[in-house]
Amino acid sequence: MKALVVGAGIAGLVTARQLGLAGWDVVVLERSEGPRTAGYMMDFFGPGVGASERIGLYPRLAAVSYRVDAAEYVDTNGRVTSRIDYERFVRAAGGKALSLMRPDLERAALEALDDVPAGRVKVRYGSRLNRFWADEDGVGVDGEDSAAPSRTADVLVGADGIHSEVRAQLFGPEQTWLRPLGMRAAAFLVEAPDLQAHVRNRFMLTDSIDRMAGLYGLRTGEVAAMLVYRDAGTLSGEERGGTQNRLRQQFTGLGTAVDRLLALCPEDPYDDVVAQVVMPTWHRSRVVLVGDACGAVSLLAGQGGSLAVAGGALLGDILGPVSSPQGIDDALAEFDRRWRPTVERAQASGRRAAASFLPANRWQRLRRRWIIRASGLPGIDRIVARQIVNRLAR
Ligand SMILES: Cc1cc2nc3c(=O)[nH]c(=O)nc-3n(C[C@H](O)[C@H](O)[C@H](O)COP(=O)(O)OP(=O)(O)OC[C@H]3O[C@@H](n4cnc5c(N)ncnc54)[C@H](O)[C@@H]3O)c2cc1C
Repeated sequence: MKALVVGAGIAGLVTARQLGLAGWDVVVLERSEGPRTAGYMMDFFGPGVGASERIGLYPRLAAVSYRVDAAEYVDTNGRVTSRIDYERFVRAAGGKALSLMRPDLERAALEALDDVPAGRVKVRYGSRLNRFWADEDGVGVDGEDSAAPSRTADVLVGADGIHSEVRAQLFGPEQTWLRPLGMRAAAFLVEAPDLQAHVRNRFMLTDSIDRMAGLYGLRTGEVAAMLVYRDAGTLSGEERGGTQNRLRQQFTGLGTAVDRLLALCPEDPYDDVVAQVVMPTWHRSRVVLVGDACGAVSLLAGQGGSLAVAGGALLGDILGPVSSPQGIDDALAEFDRRWRPTVERAQASGRRAAASFLPANRWQRLRRRWIIRASGLPGIDRIVARQIVNRLAR
């Protein structure tokens, strides 16, 4: 059996590995020229933990994870206004959670392809794809040119992220499925050993209204930044101006650490709408979507990477034993049925978090400080994890 997987992100690589282990021939088509190095610090907890343990990926993830002591909110003078011990968050998240840079998670999933017999899974970086198609004879992709030739297979897996092109061509236009949550998020890395030393081993978060800058110091001497700000989505790209300018306008004045970060901000960093993807079905004919492509939960749920691992593993395990094209439809329907409740639960958590993630006024900010401080009291860890860190506690 043959599969084409579009996208060598977390979901695509994990799906490909599980199919390869089950004996499928898999080609993963990725448009970037190599493993993507840009990224942000992620919490990894929930379904991805159990799934990565089950498929043997967890030790690789633990090996590249970071130690985080605490999340600290700071005012414009750099004074800590509230603090939450990370251990408390880990306990609330079920006892197991890792802090991972997104590229490290992706690279671990790529390296885990070594477990598959040689030649079964091929990853083709720099693939320029033009058209995805599906008919009664099978599925296929057409490349833009001879460097990305046309290919056919038994199954096409769209693992191409929140702005999935497979979804747009075979399920309908993006605006039908994308649910913006009223904010944007930017992320980038800066080389700044002084800043790194300042924020090391903690998430430094600005205690600000309508926007929040988060900084984490990496072992490379770099600082990983994530900037989240309110945006109704009514302005066109042009009206918003260049990303670097926009971020400087939005975030200047939040303190010297953030000002230094902004001075080093690259010209065109990652900056995208914070949104979810909601679809009534994730498969049709022999095409299936996985990861953010079908069920993005948003950074507010703090579980997209975790769900990409768990969803990819489940899809691979359900589809893996299928040995003839006749069994594909049923397997894809089973994947949708079994995986949907988990995704919908995480999406509901993300939507709840959207209401309080960025305080809209001083009163809401004060309330957040109060709840975090109260977290020192025994027994309310779970509330804290849910309300402050805005992650799904189970
Ligand atoms: C700022 C931010 C913070 C986050 N924090 C967390 C967190 O704390 N915890 C957590 O679990 N999750 C977090 N997430 C979410 C998480 O990063 C995503 O949910 C996860 O990366 C989704 O994985 P994926 O494999 O489905 O998609 P992606 O990682 O988007 O991978 C898709 C891949 O497909 C490729 N591709 C796209 N189009 C094409 C095409 N036409 N042809 C070929 N290839 C294509 C892309 O280049 C990419 O490699 C965060 C996200 C953001 C933006």
